[in-house]
Amino acid sequence: MNYRLKLLSYVVMAYMLLAFAWWTILLNQKNEEAYEAKREMLRVAKMANSTYTTEAEFRQSDRYTNLRERYKRRQAMIFGESLVFVLSLFVGFWFINKGYRDIIKNSRSKTNFLLSISHELKSPVASVKLALETILKRDLDKSQLEQVAGGAIAETERLKSLIGNLLLAARLEEAYEINKEPVDSGKVLHQIVNIEKIKFQDADIELHLQAGTEEIYTDKFAFATIMHNLIENALKYSGENPKVEVVLKKRETALEIAVADQGVGIPDEEKDRIFEKFYRLGHEITRSTKGTGLGLFIINKMVEALNGKIQVEDNDPAGSVFRILLKNHLNTPGLSEGRENRD
Ligand code: ADP
Repeated sequence: MNYRLKLLSYVVMAYMLLAFAWWTILLNQKNEEAYEAKREMLRVAKMANSTYTTEAEFRQSDRYTNLRERYKRRQAMIFGESLVFVLSLFVGFWFINKGYRDIIKNSRSKTNFLLSISHELKSPVASVKLALETILKRDLDKSQLEQVAGGAIAETERLKSLIGNLLLAARLEEAYEINKEPVDSGKVLHQIVNIEKIKFQDADIELHLQAGTEEIYTDKFAFATIMHNLIENALKYSGENPKVEVVLKKRETALEIAVADQGVGIPDEEKDRIFEKFYRLGHEITRSTKGTGLGLFIINKMVEALNGKIQVEDNDPAGSVFRILLKNHLNTPGLSEGRENRD
């Protein structure tokens, strides 16, 4: 269906181009014929008046030069108009094609989202139900009870964070209101690392905080959300024994955050698209990993709200590095206003 529609639009476009080329040639021919007829009439009139001498003199006469100039002007008009028409046809066609591609892309990412979200919502609910049934039906001892209930709590946590992400993504469609305050970056990062180490027990996470970045001036919730999502992605897309390095350093007056992993990496042609809402890469490791394609969308929106920039590069020898640059984040509140104006 898709292919047929595309073919039909190309055929219509080719027909319009051919038809217009044909009309241009025809119009030009008519212009030429009219010019030649008028020129002959002029020659005959001059002969009748006995003012026609030589062909060279006839071509230099005012009436002939006027006639020829008018003919040339009309010719330029015919070809100029044709060119404008063809160009506008191409531009219009390009816009229609682009709009059509965007609609297909959006509907695909919504379908992807619905597929992953229904699985993500159903599986923790099913696990909690199973845990409760086990507790009811079986006579469990204390340690078994702790294990089953612990699993159920972890599942409800996952559900809570998924719902939280969905609500946050919806909220971020509107502007996110930034509320800056002094933040102990080391403390926030250690808390995140501790949580992630429980989830990914084989993980090796290194934190490097350059002097002067231990206390930053930022929106605490946005900073923690960004760091949590980046570190979790780095671990999720690294396979077994993930190794992740988190660096906070000063770059002139800005704060630079880098989260590097040695995982599967991201192909160049996908580097921009991963920040789109609900977008997930098609490779096996993504498909076998739980997610909704909301994490990087949220990060990107929050970095935008913090007036920062985010980019992703290839790591050496493998994996990816997510790098964020945030201005006015090293300032203490007292200095912030003066400095913000200068940046
Ligand atoms: P989610 O992880 O829930 O799928 P994200 O928005 O966080 O959603 O990421 C979008 C996609 O980008 C992921 O599905 C994954 O394919 C890719 N991706 C994100 N971070 C990394 C990373 N560190 N290494 C490789 N691929 C990544």
